Amino acid sequence: MTDRYQQFTNSGVGRALVKRLGLPNPTPLRRHRAGDPALDGPALLRSAPGGRLAEAVGAVCKAAGIEVLTAAGPKTYGALVFDATGIASVSQLRELYDFFNPVLRAVGTCGRVIVLGTPPERIADADELIAQRALEGFVRSVGKELVRGATAQLVYVEPGAEEQIGSTLRFLLSGKSAYVDAQVIRIGIYGGHVVEPEDWTAPLAGKVALVTGASRGIGAAIAEVLSRDGAHVVALDIPAQGDELAAVANRVGGSTLQLDITGGDAPARLVEYLRSRHGGVDIVVHNAGITRDKKLANMKDAAWDAVLSVNLSSQLRVNDALLADGILREGGRIIGVSSIAGIAGNTGQTNYATSKAGVIGMVDAYAPLLAPRGITINAVAPGFIETKMTAAVPLFIREAGRRMNSLSQGGLPVDVAETIAWYANPASGGVNGNVVRVCGQSLLGA
Ligand code: NAD
Repeated sequence: MTDRYQQFTNSGVGRALVKRLGLPNPTPLRRHRAGDPALDGPALLRSAPGGRLAEAVGAVCKAAGIEVLTAAGPKTYGALVFDATGIASVSQLRELYDFFNPVLRAVGTCGRVIVLGTPPERIADADELIAQRALEGFVRSVGKELVRGATAQLVYVEPGAEEQIGSTLRFLLSGKSAYVDAQVIRIGIYGGHVVEPEDWTAPLAGKVALVTGASRGIGAAIAEVLSRDGAHVVALDIPAQGDELAAVANRVGGSTLQLDITGGDAPARLVEYLRSRHGGVDIVVHNAGITRDKKLANMKDAAWDAVLSVNLSSQLRVNDALLADGILREGGRIIGVSSIAGIAGNTGQTNYATSKAGVIGMVDAYAPLLAPRGITINAVAPGFIETKMTAAVPLFIREAGRRMNSLSQGGLPVDVAETIAWYANPASGGVNGNVVRVCGQSLLGA
Protein backbone atom coordinates (compact mmCIF):
# COMPACT_ATOMS: atom_id res chain seq x y z
CA MET A 1 0.00 0.00 0.00
CA THR A 2 3.05 2.26 -0.10
CA ASP A 3 3.37 4.93 -2.75
CA ARG A 4 7.05 4.38 -3.60
CA TYR A 5 7.01 7.05 -6.28
CA GLN A 6 5.96 9.66 -3.72
CA GLN A 7 8.73 8.53 -1.37
CA PHE A 8 11.21 8.84 -4.25
CA THR A 9 10.08 12.34 -5.23
CA ASN A 10 10.64 13.47 -1.67
CA SER A 11 14.26 12.27 -1.71
CA GLY A 12 17.14 14.50 -2.86
CA VAL A 13 17.73 12.72 -6.20
CA GLY A 14 14.01 12.38 -6.78
CA ARG A 15 13.38 16.10 -6.31
CA ALA A 16 16.05 16.96 -8.88
CA LEU A 17 14.73 14.48 -11.44
CA VAL A 18 11.12 15.59 -10.99
CA LYS A 19 12.18 19.17 -11.71
CA ARG A 20 14.29 18.26 -14.76
CA LEU A 21 11.71 15.97 -16.35
CA GLY A 22 8.53 17.80 -15.32
CA LEU A 23 7.17 14.68 -13.55
CA PRO A 24 4.23 14.77 -11.15
CA ASN A 25 5.38 15.88 -7.72
CA PRO A 26 2.89 14.86 -5.03
CA THR A 27 3.01 16.88 -1.84
CA PRO A 28 2.52 14.85 1.37
CA LEU A 29 -0.95 15.90 2.45
CA ARG A 30 -1.51 17.52 5.82
CA ARG A 31 -4.07 15.34 7.59
CA HIS A 32 -5.88 15.92 10.87
CA ARG A 33 -3.95 15.18 14.03
CA ALA A 34 -5.47 15.71 17.46
CA GLY A 35 -4.24 18.95 18.95
CA ASP A 36 -2.93 20.46 15.69
CA PRO A 37 -4.39 23.79 14.56
CA ALA A 38 -7.06 23.43 11.85
CA LEU A 39 -5.00 25.41 9.33
CA ASP A 40 -1.34 26.29 8.84
CA GLY A 41 -1.88 30.05 8.81
CA PRO A 42 -4.66 32.64 8.83
CA ALA A 43 -7.71 32.71 6.56
CA LEU A 44 -8.22 35.74 4.33
CA LEU A 45 -11.95 36.45 4.09
CA ARG A 46 -13.60 38.70 1.50
CA SER A 47 -17.19 39.26 0.51
CA ALA A 48 -18.51 40.50 -2.82
CA PRO A 49 -20.85 43.49 -2.22
CA GLY A 50 -24.23 42.24 -0.99
CA GLY A 51 -22.83 38.95 0.35
CA ARG A 52 -24.77 37.39 3.24
CA LEU A 53 -22.26 34.94 4.72
CA ALA A 54 -19.19 36.86 5.91
CA GLU A 55 -20.48 37.25 9.45
CA ALA A 56 -21.35 33.55 9.80
CA VAL A 57 -17.99 32.52 8.31
CA GLY A 58 -16.14 34.81 10.72
CA ALA A 59 -18.02 33.33 13.70
CA VAL A 60 -17.29 29.73 12.65
CA CYS A 61 -13.59 30.47 12.13
CA LYS A 62 -13.33 32.19 15.50
CA ALA A 63 -14.97 29.23 17.25
CA ALA A 64 -12.62 26.85 15.41
CA GLY A 65 -9.54 28.84 16.44
CA ILE A 66 -8.80 30.08 12.92
CA GLU A 67 -7.43 33.61 12.64
CA VAL A 68 -9.42 35.63 10.10
CA LEU A 69 -7.95 38.55 8.17
CA THR A 70 -10.01 40.89 6.04
CA ALA A 71 -7.11 42.67 4.34
CA ALA A 72 -4.19 41.11 2.48
CA GLY A 73 -0.84 41.19 4.27
CA PRO A 74 1.02 37.99 5.14
CA LYS A 75 3.21 36.05 2.72
CA THR A 76 1.14 32.87 3.00
CA TYR A 77 -2.42 32.02 3.99
CA GLY A 78 -3.94 28.86 5.38
CA ALA A 79 -7.07 29.64 3.39
CA LEU A 80 -8.75 32.11 1.07
CA VAL A 81 -12.50 32.32 1.64
CA PHE A 82 -14.68 34.31 -0.73
CA ASP A 83 -18.37 34.98 -0.13
CA ALA A 84 -19.78 35.20 -3.66
CA THR A 85 -23.45 35.18 -2.65
CA GLY A 86 -23.74 38.85 -3.57
CA ILE A 87 -22.79 38.23 -7.21
CA ALA A 88 -25.98 38.66 -9.21
CA SER A 89 -24.71 39.26 -12.76
CA VAL A 90 -21.99 38.15 -15.12
CA SER A 91 -20.18 41.48 -14.89
CA GLN A 92 -19.94 41.05 -11.11
CA LEU A 93 -18.01 37.81 -11.62
CA ARG A 94 -15.05 40.17 -12.01
CA GLU A 95 -15.07 40.29 -8.19
CA LEU A 96 -13.60 36.77 -8.26
CA TYR A 97 -10.69 37.88 -10.40
CA ASP A 98 -10.09 40.99 -8.34
CA PHE A 99 -9.89 39.07 -5.07
CA PHE A 100 -8.04 35.93 -6.12
CA ASN A 101 -5.60 37.21 -8.74
CA PRO A 102 -3.26 39.07 -6.36
CA VAL A 103 -3.36 36.47 -3.55
CA LEU A 104 -3.65 33.02 -5.15
CA ARG A 105 0.12 32.45 -5.13
CA ALA A 106 0.11 33.06 -1.40
CA VAL A 107 -2.00 29.99 -0.62
CA GLY A 108 0.26 27.92 1.65
CA THR A 109 1.11 24.21 1.44
CA CYS A 110 -2.12 22.17 1.76
CA GLY A 111 -4.01 25.47 1.97
CA ARG A 112 -7.68 25.92 1.17
CA VAL A 113 -9.72 27.99 -1.27
CA ILE A 114 -13.43 28.18 -0.50
CA VAL A 115 -16.02 30.01 -2.54
CA LEU A 116 -19.53 30.39 -1.11
CA GLY A 117 -22.57 30.88 -3.33
CA THR A 118 -26.33 30.44 -3.61
CA PRO A 119 -27.69 27.19 -5.13
CA PRO A 120 -28.48 28.19 -8.75
CA GLU A 121 -31.55 25.96 -8.89
CA ARG A 122 -33.12 28.07 -6.13
CA ILE A 123 -32.66 31.38 -8.00
CA ALA A 124 -35.51 32.84 -10.05
CA ASP A 125 -33.59 35.70 -11.70
CA ALA A 126 -31.82 34.51 -14.87
CA ASP A 127 -28.77 36.79 -14.59
CA GLU A 128 -28.14 35.81 -11.00
CA LEU A 129 -28.67 32.11 -11.74
CA ILE A 130 -26.13 32.23 -14.55
CA ALA A 131 -23.56 34.07 -12.45
CA GLN A 132 -23.93 31.66 -9.53
CA ARG A 133 -23.70 28.63 -11.83
CA ALA A 134 -20.52 30.10 -13.30
CA LEU A 135 -18.80 29.75 -9.92
CA GLU A 136 -18.49 26.03 -10.55
CA GLY A 137 -16.16 26.44 -13.52
CA PHE A 138 -14.06 28.90 -11.57
CA VAL A 139 -13.58 26.64 -8.56
CA ARG A 140 -12.92 23.51 -10.61
CA SER A 141 -10.21 25.36 -12.54
CA VAL A 142 -8.63 26.85 -9.45
CA GLY A 143 -8.50 23.30 -8.05
CA LYS A 144 -6.43 22.29 -11.05
CA GLU A 145 -4.13 25.31 -10.82
CA LEU A 146 -3.37 25.09 -7.09
CA VAL A 147 -0.08 23.44 -6.18
CA ARG A 148 1.52 21.87 -3.06
CA GLY A 149 -1.52 19.91 -1.92
CA ALA A 150 -3.88 22.90 -1.76
CA THR A 151 -7.55 22.37 -2.65
CA ALA A 152 -10.58 24.42 -3.73
CA GLN A 153 -14.30 23.88 -2.98
CA LEU A 154 -17.60 25.57 -3.76
CA VAL A 155 -20.26 25.63 -1.06
CA TYR A 156 -23.77 26.65 -2.13
CA VAL A 157 -25.75 27.83 0.87
CA GLU A 158 -29.54 28.11 0.69
CA PRO A 159 -30.82 31.56 1.76
CA GLY A 160 -31.85 31.16 5.40
CA ALA A 161 -29.32 28.39 6.04
CA GLU A 162 -26.51 30.76 7.02
CA GLU A 163 -26.34 29.26 10.50
CA GLN A 164 -25.94 25.72 9.13
CA ILE A 165 -22.46 26.14 7.65
CA GLY A 166 -20.38 25.43 10.78
CA SER A 167 -19.63 21.71 10.45
CA THR A 168 -18.93 22.03 6.73
CA LEU A 169 -16.49 24.92 7.10
CA ARG A 170 -14.73 23.19 9.97
CA PHE A 171 -14.33 20.11 7.79
CA LEU A 172 -13.14 21.96 4.71
CA LEU A 173 -10.83 24.30 6.63
CA SER A 174 -8.88 21.41 8.15
CA GLY A 175 -6.74 18.40 7.32
CA LYS A 176 -9.87 16.23 7.54
CA SER A 177 -10.70 17.17 3.94
CA ALA A 178 -7.14 16.52 2.68
CA TYR A 179 -8.18 14.45 -0.36
CA VAL A 180 -11.48 16.25 -1.12
CA ASP A 181 -10.87 18.61 -4.01
CA ALA A 182 -13.00 20.72 -6.38
CA GLN A 183 -16.28 19.59 -4.89
CA VAL A 184 -19.63 21.36 -4.97
CA ILE A 185 -21.49 21.05 -1.68
CA ARG A 186 -25.07 22.17 -1.03
CA ILE A 187 -26.30 23.20 2.41
CA GLY A 188 -29.88 23.73 3.55
CA ILE A 189 -31.66 22.64 0.36
CA TYR A 190 -34.06 20.48 2.37
CA GLY A 191 -34.11 22.61 5.50
CA GLY A 192 -32.09 21.06 8.28
CA HIS A 193 -31.79 20.89 12.01
CA VAL A 194 -28.36 21.78 13.36
CA VAL A 195 -27.32 20.56 16.79
CA GLU A 196 -24.01 22.09 17.87
CA PRO A 197 -21.93 19.46 19.63
CA GLU A 198 -20.89 20.37 23.17
CA ASP A 199 -17.41 19.11 22.38
CA TRP A 200 -16.16 19.38 18.78
CA THR A 201 -13.53 16.72 19.48
CA ALA A 202 -16.29 14.20 20.33
CA PRO A 203 -19.31 15.33 18.30
CA LEU A 204 -20.77 11.80 18.14
CA ALA A 205 -20.74 11.17 21.89
CA GLY A 206 -23.76 9.06 22.85
CA LYS A 207 -24.46 7.99 19.25
CA VAL A 208 -24.61 4.44 17.92
CA ALA A 209 -23.12 3.93 14.46
CA LEU A 210 -23.55 0.85 12.26
CA VAL A 211 -20.73 0.34 9.75
CA THR A 212 -21.09 -2.47 7.21
CA GLY A 213 -18.00 -4.12 5.72
CA ALA A 214 -16.06 -2.90 8.77
CA SER A 215 -13.45 -5.66 9.05
CA ARG A 216 -10.86 -4.07 6.77
CA GLY A 217 -9.99 -1.32 4.29
CA ILE A 218 -12.18 1.74 4.20
CA GLY A 219 -14.77 0.22 6.57
CA ALA A 220 -12.18 -0.30 9.31
CA ALA A 221 -11.06 3.34 8.94
CA ILE A 222 -14.68 4.51 9.18
CA ALA A 223 -15.10 2.53 12.40
CA GLU A 224 -11.95 4.12 13.82
CA VAL A 225 -12.87 7.70 12.93
CA LEU A 226 -16.49 7.46 14.10
CA SER A 227 -15.26 5.94 17.34
CA ARG A 228 -12.62 8.67 17.71
CA ASP A 229 -15.50 11.14 17.40
CA GLY A 230 -17.29 9.48 20.31
CA ALA A 231 -19.71 6.99 18.69
CA HIS A 232 -20.24 3.40 19.80
CA VAL A 233 -19.58 1.45 16.61
CA VAL A 234 -21.43 -1.71 15.65
CA ALA A 235 -19.01 -3.28 13.17
CA LEU A 236 -20.75 -5.61 10.70
CA ASP A 237 -19.19 -8.02 8.23
CA ILE A 238 -19.69 -11.52 6.83
CA PRO A 239 -18.91 -14.45 9.17
CA ALA A 240 -15.81 -15.39 7.12
CA GLN A 241 -14.27 -12.07 8.23
CA GLY A 242 -15.01 -12.78 11.89
CA ASP A 243 -11.47 -12.60 13.24
CA GLU A 244 -10.56 -9.37 11.46
CA LEU A 245 -13.92 -7.92 12.45
CA ALA A 246 -13.32 -8.73 16.12
CA ALA A 247 -9.89 -7.08 15.92
CA VAL A 248 -11.38 -3.86 14.56
CA ALA A 249 -14.19 -3.84 17.12
CA ASN A 250 -11.73 -4.43 19.96
CA ARG A 251 -9.52 -1.62 18.73
CA VAL A 252 -12.38 0.88 18.74
CA GLY A 253 -14.23 -0.43 21.79
CA GLY A 254 -17.21 -1.34 19.63
CA SER A 255 -19.27 -4.47 19.10
CA THR A 256 -19.40 -6.98 16.25
CA LEU A 257 -22.26 -8.31 14.19
CA GLN A 258 -21.47 -11.15 11.81
CA LEU A 259 -24.08 -10.94 9.10
CA ASP A 260 -24.31 -11.26 5.33
CA ILE A 261 -26.36 -8.19 4.43
CA THR A 262 -27.75 -9.89 1.33
CA GLY A 263 -29.48 -12.61 3.38
CA GLY A 264 -33.27 -12.60 3.18
CA ASP A 265 -33.58 -12.26 6.96
CA ALA A 266 -30.67 -9.78 7.32
CA PRO A 267 -32.80 -6.62 7.71
CA ALA A 268 -34.97 -8.26 10.38
CA ARG A 269 -31.93 -9.63 12.26
CA LEU A 270 -30.28 -6.23 12.10
CA VAL A 271 -33.35 -4.48 13.46
CA GLU A 272 -33.62 -7.02 16.27
CA TYR A 273 -29.94 -6.67 17.16
CA LEU A 274 -29.99 -2.86 17.23
CA ARG A 275 -33.27 -2.74 19.15
CA SER A 276 -32.27 -5.24 21.81
CA ARG A 277 -28.68 -4.04 22.35
CA HIS A 278 -28.93 -0.31 21.76
CA GLY A 279 -32.60 0.62 21.52
CA GLY A 280 -31.94 1.93 18.01
CA VAL A 281 -29.22 3.42 15.83
CA ASP A 282 -28.18 6.96 14.89
CA ILE A 283 -25.74 6.53 12.02
CA VAL A 284 -25.82 3.89 9.27
CA VAL A 285 -22.86 3.64 6.90
CA HIS A 286 -23.46 1.36 3.92
CA ASN A 287 -19.82 0.65 3.20
CA ALA A 288 -19.87 -3.07 2.33
CA GLY A 289 -19.22 -3.46 -1.37
CA ILE A 290 -17.82 -5.95 -3.84
CA THR A 291 -16.52 -6.00 -7.39
CA ARG A 292 -16.92 -8.84 -9.93
CA ASP A 293 -15.25 -7.27 -12.96
CA LYS A 294 -15.77 -8.56 -16.51
CA LYS A 295 -16.74 -6.85 -19.72
CA LEU A 296 -20.51 -7.02 -20.07
CA ALA A 297 -20.42 -9.40 -23.05
CA ASN A 298 -18.40 -11.91 -20.96
CA MET A 299 -20.12 -11.40 -17.64
CA LYS A 300 -21.99 -14.25 -15.94
CA ASP A 301 -25.39 -13.39 -14.52
CA ALA A 302 -24.21 -14.40 -11.03
CA ALA A 303 -21.56 -11.63 -11.14
CA TRP A 304 -24.18 -9.07 -12.11
CA ASP A 305 -26.60 -10.23 -9.42
CA ALA A 306 -24.03 -10.41 -6.59
CA VAL A 307 -22.75 -6.87 -7.17
CA LEU A 308 -26.22 -5.32 -7.46
CA SER A 309 -27.33 -7.22 -4.37
CA VAL A 310 -24.45 -6.24 -2.01
CA ASN A 311 -23.88 -2.74 -3.34
CA LEU A 312 -27.46 -1.58 -3.75
CA SER A 313 -30.58 -3.68 -3.20
CA SER A 314 -29.60 -5.03 0.23
CA GLN A 315 -28.97 -1.44 1.33
CA LEU A 316 -32.44 -0.38 0.24
CA ARG A 317 -33.98 -3.28 2.18
CA VAL A 318 -31.98 -2.37 5.29
CA ASN A 319 -33.06 1.26 5.00
CA ASP A 320 -36.71 0.25 4.68
CA ALA A 321 -36.50 -1.96 7.76
CA LEU A 322 -34.69 0.63 9.90
CA LEU A 323 -37.07 3.39 8.88
CA ALA A 324 -40.29 1.39 9.14
CA ASP A 325 -39.67 0.49 12.77
CA GLY A 326 -38.26 3.85 13.81
CA ILE A 327 -34.99 2.06 14.66
CA LEU A 328 -33.09 4.84 12.92
CA ARG A 329 -33.68 7.57 15.44
CA GLU A 330 -34.69 11.17 14.80
CA GLY A 331 -31.68 13.17 13.70
CA GLY A 332 -30.36 9.96 12.10
CA ARG A 333 -27.83 9.73 9.31
CA ILE A 334 -27.70 7.35 6.35
CA ILE A 335 -24.42 7.44 4.45
CA GLY A 336 -23.76 5.62 1.19
CA VAL A 337 -20.44 4.73 -0.39
CA SER A 338 -20.59 5.28 -4.12
CA SER A 339 -17.52 5.47 -6.38
CA ILE A 340 -16.20 7.64 -9.18
CA ALA A 341 -16.89 4.56 -11.33
CA GLY A 342 -20.57 5.28 -10.65
CA ILE A 343 -20.06 8.76 -12.11
CA ALA A 344 -17.55 8.17 -14.93
CA GLY A 345 -18.24 4.51 -15.78
CA ASN A 346 -15.44 1.99 -16.17
CA THR A 347 -14.56 -0.78 -18.60
CA GLY A 348 -15.32 -4.16 -17.04
CA GLN A 349 -17.47 -2.59 -14.34
CA THR A 350 -20.97 -2.27 -15.78
CA ASN A 351 -22.37 -4.11 -12.76
CA TYR A 352 -20.32 -2.12 -10.22
CA ALA A 353 -20.90 1.28 -11.86
CA THR A 354 -24.64 0.58 -12.15
CA SER A 355 -24.80 -0.22 -8.44
CA LYS A 356 -22.72 2.80 -7.46
CA ALA A 357 -24.76 5.19 -9.63
CA GLY A 358 -27.79 3.62 -7.94
CA VAL A 359 -26.36 4.71 -4.58
CA ILE A 360 -26.42 8.28 -5.90
CA GLY A 361 -30.05 7.68 -6.92
CA MET A 362 -30.74 6.46 -3.38
CA VAL A 363 -29.47 9.78 -2.02
CA ASP A 364 -31.54 11.78 -4.52
CA ALA A 365 -34.71 9.82 -3.83
CA TYR A 366 -34.55 9.69 -0.04
CA ALA A 367 -33.16 13.12 0.89
CA PRO A 368 -36.44 15.03 0.51
CA LEU A 369 -38.45 12.19 2.07
CA LEU A 370 -36.29 11.89 5.18
CA ALA A 371 -35.76 15.60 5.81
CA PRO A 372 -39.07 16.06 7.71
CA ARG A 373 -37.88 13.38 10.18
CA GLY A 374 -34.62 15.22 10.74
CA ILE A 375 -32.75 12.38 9.02
CA THR A 376 -30.16 13.11 6.34
CA ILE A 377 -28.79 10.91 3.58
CA ASN A 378 -25.58 11.63 1.70
CA ALA A 379 -22.86 9.65 -0.04
CA VAL A 380 -19.14 9.73 -0.63
CA ALA A 381 -17.73 8.77 -4.01
CA PRO A 382 -14.13 7.66 -3.46
CA GLY A 383 -11.59 7.81 -6.26
CA PHE A 384 -8.28 5.94 -6.01
CA ILE A 385 -7.88 4.97 -2.36
CA GLU A 386 -4.80 3.04 -1.17
CA THR A 387 -6.27 -0.28 -0.01
CA LYS A 388 -5.60 -3.97 -0.56
CA MET A 389 -8.14 -3.77 -3.37
CA THR A 390 -6.21 -1.12 -5.30
CA ALA A 391 -2.80 -2.66 -4.42
CA ALA A 392 -3.92 -5.70 -6.43
CA VAL A 393 -4.55 -3.61 -9.57
CA PRO A 394 -1.86 -4.15 -12.28
CA LEU A 395 1.04 -1.67 -11.95
CA PHE A 396 0.40 0.49 -15.01
CA ILE A 397 -3.32 0.93 -14.36
CA ARG A 398 -2.58 1.50 -10.68
CA GLU A 399 -0.06 4.26 -11.43
CA ALA A 400 -2.50 5.92 -13.84
CA GLY A 401 -5.27 5.86 -11.22
CA ARG A 402 -2.96 7.22 -8.56
CA ARG A 403 -1.53 10.12 -10.55
CA MET A 404 -4.46 11.24 -12.70
CA ASN A 405 -5.80 13.73 -10.19
CA SER A 406 -4.94 17.24 -9.11
CA LEU A 407 -3.00 16.02 -6.05
CA SER A 408 -1.01 13.40 -8.08
CA GLN A 409 -1.51 10.71 -5.43
CA GLY A 410 -4.00 8.20 -4.08
CA GLY A 411 -6.12 8.94 -1.06
CA LEU A 412 -6.09 7.00 2.22
CA PRO A 413 -9.04 5.18 3.80
CA VAL A 414 -9.03 7.81 6.55
CA ASP A 415 -9.86 10.50 3.94
CA VAL A 416 -13.11 8.71 3.09
CA ALA A 417 -13.78 8.13 6.79
CA GLU A 418 -13.32 11.82 7.71
CA THR A 419 -15.82 12.84 5.03
CA ILE A 420 -18.32 10.35 6.44
CA ALA A 421 -17.73 11.69 9.95
CA TRP A 422 -18.56 15.20 8.68
CA TYR A 423 -21.93 13.95 7.34
CA ALA A 424 -22.54 12.12 10.62
CA ASN A 425 -21.93 15.20 12.77
CA PRO A 426 -25.13 16.46 14.51
CA ALA A 427 -24.20 19.94 13.27
CA SER A 428 -24.48 18.68 9.66
CA GLY A 429 -28.29 18.63 9.72
CA GLY A 430 -28.34 20.99 6.72
CA VAL A 431 -26.06 18.71 4.70
CA ASN A 432 -28.59 16.48 2.99
CA GLY A 433 -28.71 15.03 -0.53
CA ASN A 434 -24.99 15.54 -1.27
CA VAL A 435 -22.58 13.26 -3.10
CA VAL A 436 -19.03 14.37 -2.40
CA ARG A 437 -16.13 12.80 -4.23
CA VAL A 438 -13.05 11.92 -2.23
CA CYS A 439 -10.79 11.70 -5.24
CA GLY A 440 -8.24 14.54 -5.22
CA GLN A 441 -10.11 15.98 -8.25
CA SER A 442 -9.69 12.85 -10.34
CA LEU A 443 -9.76 13.40 -14.07
CA LEU A 444 -12.19 10.48 -14.36
CA GLY A 445 -15.74 11.67 -14.72
CA ALA A 446 -14.62 15.22 -14.08
P1 NAD B 1 -12.82 -4.21 0.86
O1 NAD B 1 -13.11 -5.33 -0.07
O2 NAD B 1 -11.48 -4.16 1.51
O3 NAD B 1 -13.92 -4.20 2.02
C1 NAD B 1 -15.30 -4.45 1.80
C2 NAD B 1 -15.86 -5.17 2.99
O4 NAD B 1 -17.25 -5.46 2.74
C3 NAD B 1 -15.16 -6.52 3.25
O5 NAD B 1 -14.74 -6.61 4.59
C4 NAD B 1 -16.23 -7.53 2.92
O6 NAD B 1 -16.15 -8.74 3.66
C5 NAD B 1 -17.51 -6.75 3.23
N1 NAD B 1 -18.68 -7.36 2.58
C6 NAD B 1 -18.75 -7.79 1.29
N2 NAD B 1 -19.94 -8.37 1.07
C7 NAD B 1 -20.63 -8.31 2.23
C8 NAD B 1 -21.93 -8.75 2.63
N3 NAD B 1 -22.73 -9.40 1.78
N4 NAD B 1 -22.33 -8.53 3.90
C9 NAD B 1 -21.51 -7.90 4.77
N5 NAD B 1 -20.28 -7.44 4.46
C10 NAD B 1 -19.84 -7.66 3.20
O7 NAD B 1 -13.13 -2.87 0.05
P2 NAD B 1 -12.72 -1.34 0.31
O8 NAD B 1 -11.70 -0.96 -0.69
O9 NAD B 1 -12.45 -1.06 1.75
O10 NAD B 1 -14.08 -0.62 -0.11
C11 NAD B 1 -15.10 -0.22 0.79
C12 NAD B 1 -16.19 0.48 -0.01
O11 NAD B 1 -15.63 1.57 -0.73
C13 NAD B 1 -16.86 -0.41 -1.05
O12 NAD B 1 -18.24 -0.11 -1.12
C14 NAD B 1 -16.16 -0.02 -2.34
O13 NAD B 1 -16.96 -0.29 -3.47
C15 NAD B 1 -15.96 1.47 -2.11
N6 NAD B 1 -14.88 2.07 -2.92
C16 NAD B 1 -13.57 1.73 -2.75
C17 NAD B 1 -12.58 2.35 -3.52
C18 NAD B 1 -11.11 2.05 -3.35
O14 NAD B 1 -10.28 2.68 -4.04
N7 NAD B 1 -10.70 1.14 -2.48
C19 NAD B 1 -12.95 3.29 -4.47
C20 NAD B 1 -14.28 3.61 -4.63
C21 NAD B 1 -15.25 3.00 -3.83
